[in-house]
Amino acid sequence: MVGCIFCKIAGKQIPGKIVYEDELVVAFEDVEPKAPVHILIIPREHIPTVLELTPAHKEALFRMHEAAIKIAKERNIDSRGFRLVMNTNAEAGQSVFHIHMHLLGGRHLSWPPG
Ligand code: 5GP
Ligand code: ZN
Repeated sequence: MVGCIFCKIAGKQIPGKIVYEDELVVAFEDVEPKAPVHILIIPREHIPTVLELTPAHKEALFRMHEAAIKIAKERNIDSRGFRLVMNTNAEAGQSVFHIHMHLLGGRHLSWPPG
């Protein structure tokens, strides 16, 4: 979508430290990491929030999880533990309206989150 920063990163119109990509999803380093491992995993399709997901997105959603598992293993946080987060709308702090899964790990993550 025109004006969407994550569409631009996926389309390589602006730089992003891409760590994984295929025809459905792209994963890249968060520009302001909140943990030693902080990767954002997005579908190439512009979907504003999880509220717009439909069964047509099944494959992309599964692929996002597959990418998260692959990266967690590569970064050696699979057995230590990691968190997958998808913030939705204002109270959860969503700031980019192209759905993204945060992969967070490499330190103790407290619960409940703030
Ligand atoms: P949200 O707050 O929507 O759940 O997460 C958005 C995330 O995107 C934040 O963690 C923020 O640091 C990250 N972010 C915002 N703009 C950019 C950018 O231009 N490049 C990258 N790599 N990450 C970004
Ligand atoms: Zn987008």
